[in-house]
Amino acid sequence: MSKAYTDLVKEQKDVATLGAIGSLLGWDQETYMPPDGAGSRADQQELLSTIAHQRRISPRIGTLIEECEASNGALDETLKASVREMRRDYDLATKLPVELVAELAKTQSLSQDAWKHARASDNFAMFAPWLEKVLNLTRKKAQCYGVPAGGELYDALLDEYEPGATAVQIEAIFTPLQARLSSLVARLCDSPKKPADALKGIVVPQEQQHAFGLEVLKAIGFDLSAGRLDTTAHPFCSGFGPGDTRLTTRYNTSSCLEPLSSTMHEAGHGIYEQGLPKATDFGTPLAEAVSLGIHESQSRMWENLVGRSRGFWTWALPVAKRHFAPAIDGLTLEQVYASVNQVQRSFIRVEADEATYNLHVMLRFGLERDLISGALPVKDLPGEWNKRFKQLLGLDVTSDRVGCLQDVHWSFGLVGYFPTYTLGNLYAAQFWQTINKALPDLNGQMARGEFGPLKSWLNEHIHKHGRRYRAGELCQRVTGQPLSPEPLMEYLESKYAPLYGV
Ligand code: ZN
Repeated sequence: MSKAYTDLVKEQKDVATLGAIGSLLGWDQETYMPPDGAGSRADQQELLSTIAHQRRISPRIGTLIEECEASNGALDETLKASVREMRRDYDLATKLPVELVAELAKTQSLSQDAWKHARASDNFAMFAPWLEKVLNLTRKKAQCYGVPAGGELYDALLDEYEPGATAVQIEAIFTPLQARLSSLVARLCDSPKKPADALKGIVVPQEQQHAFGLEVLKAIGFDLSAGRLDTTAHPFCSGFGPGDTRLTTRYNTSSCLEPLSSTMHEAGHGIYEQGLPKATDFGTPLAEAVSLGIHESQSRMWENLVGRSRGFWTWALPVAKRHFAPAIDGLTLEQVYASVNQVQRSFIRVEADEATYNLHVMLRFGLERDLISGALPVKDLPGEWNKRFKQLLGLDVTSDRVGCLQDVHWSFGLVGYFPTYTLGNLYAAQFWQTINKALPDLNGQMARGEFGPLKSWLNEHIHKHGRRYRAGELCQRVTGQPLSPEPLMEYLESKYAPLYGV
């Protein structure tokens, strides 16, 4: 290992540590900070992010990266990949003028506040001028990053979350998937043999839900001596550094098993964070996630492919019965399996089931692409949302609160983020096919509460590589195929067709 690389890692570790401190402040803000602390917390975050940004774009890092590139022959393949990704991060960070970063940060914060009020009062007009401002700044950001040859402005934004992906590639995957999903959803929702939701109306206290969630976390391999589970309005996962990965979830008093979905979702992110080689490589891309799409593949795998499977519930139902006694004593495995796999057309993305979820994402992908290109003026967003929603999901949107005002992302300038949710589902299903070939008794293992083999497989094939491979390359290496909609469609068809008698 060259001296330049060792020096570079030292610098990057400081940058990552500053980032981890910022995440910890953010975690505290969402969990335990008293409301009156908001003002001083904003000051702390502003100062910290300025210092972190200055360190990130320091000329010393640039020089050290150049030295590593010049002596590339001295580095092995893994370290070459590490330098390649550091170069990418450095170039992206230095392309943005400091004034634009500051203006974006300030506008995002104000715009998010305006969005909150607009959503609460169901008033899009209150949010529209802010969305306009945020989109203008986001376009400027994309121009600074630079549009790839033959690409569009949107690609520069998408690349931040899913390195190398383009709108045209996403469209090529989404278009055929959309047609097949729409037809599946229609068959399922119109089926006269729709299975009943036996869990409806069964209430259990929050403490029991929490204890059940913790027992599941332990069983699936989330290390609680290197992590925590807390409660927030919007669940999330934060991986700070070696030995500290925190999850949050939310409890629901009207549905006793639904909170487990968000706990398992965040645990999937957390198991990925814990599986990254942070003990040895913290601060370098080798200890970081590949992309948002790959991160989401891990969360959706544990949430859906595991957490809504018959195998999982064979083990988990007796555990739930023990925690919730006597609330669900009388329920059978088949009743619970049908209940956690209800499919219905609905307005809210975060509450959507596996079959309809990706249609919600496709709607947003099309709209945000048009918003960024300017083809869709902000003032026309509600009408266009409602029109396309009707085409995709067959429902008349009753208010903007359950329509174009429901997600926080655009108020933050997070454009190009939504497609990564569906990419995550696609990667998850494709990995799952490979995993089932590698672990032929996976269903039996889950039914016995043995999740170790699955977790070890993920550690070995996905987690331990960090950012050594880009998402497409990782998928090809792991599954032997480029990303395809087939595995997801096969999974959904084979699971839901028998359950819905279609
Ligand atoms: Zn997620």
